[in-house]
Amino acid sequence: MNKSFDTVILGGGPAGLSAAIYSCRGACSTAVIDTCIMGGQPTNYLELENYPGFSKIGGFELMEKFEAHANMFGVQQLAMQEIEFIDLKSTPKIIKTKEHTIEAKTVIIATGAKPMKLNIPGENEFIGRGVSYCAVCDAAFYKDKVVSVVGGGNSALEEANYLTRFAKKVYLIHRRDSFRADKIVQERVLANPKIELICDTIVEKIMGQELVNGLMLKNVKTEAISVLPVDGIFPYIGITPNVEYISGQLNQDAGGFILTDETMQTSLNGVFAVGDVRKTPLRQVITAAADGAVGAVYAAKYLETLSQVPQEV
Ligand code: NAP
Repeated sequence: MNKSFDTVILGGGPAGLSAAIYSCRGACSTAVIDTCIMGGQPTNYLELENYPGFSKIGGFELMEKFEAHANMFGVQQLAMQEIEFIDLKSTPKIIKTKEHTIEAKTVIIATGAKPMKLNIPGENEFIGRGVSYCAVCDAAFYKDKVVSVVGGGNSALEEANYLTRFAKKVYLIHRRDSFRADKIVQERVLANPKIELICDTIVEKIMGQELVNGLMLKNVKTEAISVLPVDGIFPYIGITPNVEYISGQLNQDAGGFILTDETMQTSLNGVFAVGDVRKTPLRQVITAAADGAVGAVYAAKYLETLSQVPQEV
């Protein structure tokens, strides 16, 4: 089916839904396309306690509120749509999914990011059989078991804490001896008797038969190799942007994150990028939502320039 909008937003996480609210309120016809249901990465967070106005709220619950808010202003949702083709340089811009060909005067990219992999032997082989990238989804499978978390950022430390609600023991394996997670999160981990830190250490191999049963570890200072018996491993070593579908049409940094100016404008006129998918110093729900607001406002300003007819002299 052919559809046409002023603004098409790719991705229905906090950045995309916030952009949708601002875009609709700016009287732009607006659609949000997502490969999944709306909500993005925070739907996998058990709880957030740093989104202003909510001292504690479930990630799924918060994103339901974002979605309902965008719906209230009349956004058209196109969920469960894989992008098969996109031309960001044409006028209008063209987006094709299996079901739709969509024309857009302006596009806001808000497709977020996904977990990075360790890229070690056994990782792919044991996905779903002891390797998981989502503690909230899979923690209940590890009741009274021994699990490991890899990483030293907010995600690793927060998820290690969360896993102790189920697992009897959580090893937190980090390649250095200091952490980049927020201090308050570090303090909670250090105070948790079920968490044991294994610092200056990398995982060389994930071992098992039917299911994971251990990790081969290497101490990066002494180079000593050891085997740690565990039932599961949760790598939380950072994120990589969901940008494969734009196939080099925009300027990106070495990690693939899209480069923008302060108005969220990318290297192409009329194409904006917001949230975790862009190069940004802080990736939080609040910064994604703020990006969405800025991007939508400047997308609307771009639409105004399209409707200005040149004066004859
Ligand atoms: P991150 O902050 O980039 O941390 C990644 C961690 O993984 C680092 O400690 C890094 O070690 C380690 N690492 C990277 N590659 C590795 C490898 N190949 N092997 C072993 N360890 C490796 O990533 P994140 O924790 O996923 O967080 C992503 C963003 O979301 C951050 O901006 C974070 O603040 C934000 N976030 C916020 C919240 C919250 O505020 N509630 C919750 C979750 C995430 P080094 O330290 O040595 O580089």
